[in-house]
Amino acid sequence: MLSQTCPDCKVPLFKLPSGEIICPSCNRRAVFTSSNEVEKVKVEAETTNELDDVILEKTRRLKSLMAKTDNPEQLEKLAKTLIILYDLLDRVRRTKI
Ligand SMILES: [Zn+2]
Repeated sequence: MLSQTCPDCKVPLFKLPSGEIICPSCNRRAVFTSSNEVEKVKVEAETTNELDDVILEKTRRLKSLMAKTDNPEQLEKLAKTLIILYDLLDRVRRTKI
């Protein structure tokens, strides 16, 4: 936990092992404009949720397709696609693209 707080919700910011500084309340990344000027914390616009939602919606559809099919080839395709989507989701959540 850092001594600096989020400019939006005033919750103390956290530094992740990756070096990223995040607000656990807003679930957003904070950027310091200067290492000496800790008051000037800028929170990046939240664009992750949109992509997050799209990926989750796609995985839901793929899961229902999976439940309906017994075709091994289709199952393999669906499984591979799900792996890719979950990997993407993980990246989106970690890096906040
Ligand atoms: Zn916040």
